[in-house]
Amino acid sequence: LIKPDGVARNLTGIILARIEAKGYQLVDLKMVQPNRDLLQAHYAEHEGKPFFDPLLNFMESGLLVAARFAGDRVIEGVRVLCGATDPTTAAPGTIRGDFGRDWGLAVQQNLIHASDSEESAKREIKIWLGS
Ligand code: ATP
Ligand code: MG
Repeated sequence: LIKPDGVARNLTGIILARIEAKGYQLVDLKMVQPNRDLLQAHYAEHEGKPFFDPLLNFMESGLLVAARFAGDRVIEGVRVLCGATDPTTAAPGTIRGDFGRDWGLAVQQNLIHASDSEESAKREIKIWLGS
């Protein structure tokens, strides 16, 4: 998912281009208006954490772009391209490291979400792309 900060900052193209340039195949793409229920399901693992409400408010604040990529070890590979969660310390060369920073907010705005397992990928593809 390109998060609302990525879409608002006109970084959708460059983020998708990096994943494509790595060699993964873009197989589905959709701009989506998030709603609270979908976001709650998407981030269910973080319920109860201090950043949960700020995270949902942030994710609800604008359009998202949902993309599905295919390729051997794609989940692992895209997570590496994204870089660490905290954009301040994410390595240069990664999407978060090159384009993200801390804005002093309760939630880290870090441009992109990437599924972290085959199980979460299946679940999240169903939520955002419906198949
Ligand atoms: P994502 O799930 O969005 O791909 P991630 O797997 O790197 O990111 P998670 O631990 O799953 O990180 O956290 C989900 C999101 O919640 C982060 O991407 C970030 O936007 C926010 N977040 C996580 N931890 C913190 C924190 N300690 N302080 C502020 N925001 C946080
Ligand atoms: Mg995560």
